[in-house]
Amino acid sequence: MCWDAIYSSGYGRCTHQFGKDRAKIDCHRSNCALSSNHTRAPHNCGTTCAQQTSGPMRVVDDRSARCDKCALGK
Ligand SMILES: [Zn+2]
Ligand SMILES: [Zn+2]
Ligand SMILES: [Zn+2]
Repeated sequence: MCWDAIYSSGYGRCTHQFGKDRAKIDCHRSNCALSSNHTRAPHNCGTTCAQQTSGPMRVVDDRSARCDKCALGK
């Protein structure tokens, strides 16, 4: 099933998080209505295929340092 990714950058030292880029991650399955590989053969889409994403998931790009703001001491 496809899912929505919310990308953010996390800074371990100051615990700030930034960024809210969203992207749809394609599962490439033939039995998913949202996939780019969704089957074109006749089928009962509503019962055999996933009809929606599995919901947003946070993808944190973990950085150990401080963010720019905190690194500058502001
Ligand atoms: Zn999918
Ligand atoms: Zn389908
Ligand atoms: Zn910070």
